[in-house]
Amino acid sequence: MTSDSNSTARPASAAQVSSAEFLGADDSTAHTTERASAETLDISSLSAAVECLRGRRFAVLTGAGVSTDSGIPDYRGTGSSPRAAMTLRAFLTSEQARRHYWVVSHLGWHPFRAAEPNSGHRAITALEASGKVPGVITQNIDGLHVRAGNEFVVELHGSLDRVWCLSCHHEYTRSEIAVWLEELNPRLAAAQSTPALPDGTVEVDTSVRTLIDGLTVPECRKCGGILKPGVVFFGETVPIDVYRWAERVLESADVLLVAGSSLAVNSGMQLVERAIRRRQRVVIINRGPTRADHRATVRIEGGTTESLVALAGALIPAGSAKLD
Ligand SMILES: [Zn+2]
Repeated sequence: MTSDSNSTARPASAAQVSSAEFLGADDSTAHTTERASAETLDISSLSAAVECLRGRRFAVLTGAGVSTDSGIPDYRGTGSSPRAAMTLRAFLTSEQARRHYWVVSHLGWHPFRAAEPNSGHRAITALEASGKVPGVITQNIDGLHVRAGNEFVVELHGSLDRVWCLSCHHEYTRSEIAVWLEELNPRLAAAQSTPALPDGTVEVDTSVRTLIDGLTVPECRKCGGILKPGVVFFGETVPIDVYRWAERVLESADVLLVAGSSLAVNSGMQLVERAIRRRQRVVIINRGPTRADHRATVRIEGGTTESLVALAGALIPAGSAKLD
C-alpha cells in the first residue's frame, strides 16, 4: 500500500471501520466521548499511514481542522474566507481598519480562549512524549497544542495571546488588552460574544458595525504607539526565525504528517514542498482536498481527531501513553 513513489493511497472500496475497531482497543486507548461520535474511518488508508509512520520520526503540521472538535469552526463551515481577514497594510494605514480588527477580535476572544484541546491534540502530545514526534508546526493561533502539553510547538502564524507595540516593541498579554478595550468601550464590554472564526475574530453584522464605528482603540501605555496582535496578518510573511525552527523540526524527522489543513496558505505548502525535495514521505489527514494530495504518499480523507487517535493507538505501545 505504501510505496516510495508519490502516488496517493486510495481508499479501498469496502474496508471501513470505526477507530475503535481499527485499534482493536479497550477504552484506555481512545477518548470515549469523541469516539462515540467518530465517523467511520478508512481502514485501508489508516493502515498505509501506520506502515509509513511506524519506526520513523515524523514532524506534524496542523491547520484549522484539528481545532474544529474544540469548537473553533474551520473557514469551510462558516461561509467565510480567510481572504476576508485583515491585511497588514490595512492595519498599519487605517484607523478604521484597526477599529474593525479590535472589535471582531475582542468578540472572538472569549469563545476562543474558552476552547479546550481535544483528543486529536492529546494524541499528538502522546506521540511526542513517546519520542516519535520531534515537534509540532501549526498554522493555528489558538494555542491549543501548547495547552495540550506539547513540548515543542512552532506557531507559524503567531499566537493571539501576545500583543506588541510597533514603536517601542513592548509586549503585552492579550488579556491586558481585553481589559483596556472594555474600560475604554463600555458598549463593547456589554456586547454578546459570538462563535469565533479560526483567526479569533467573528462575522460582522449590523450591531458589530455600530461597535466598530464608535470604538476607541487602545494604544501603547509606554509610548502611545500602535498595538498589533502577535499574529501574522495576510500580506505579512512568517518571521524568518520562526520558519527556521519549523525547518529544523522537519529536518529532524523522516516523514511529514499534515493534519487538518487544505494547505491553501503558502507557509504550510512551502514546508510540504521542502519535505518532498528532501525525499521525505508526506502523509495527509484532511476532510476535503488539499493542494498536496497528488504529492502525498498516503492520504486519509476524514476528521483529524479520530484519525490521530487511531494512529496514536496503533503506533504507541500499549500502556505507554494515555490519550484522555
Ligand atoms: Zn510603545
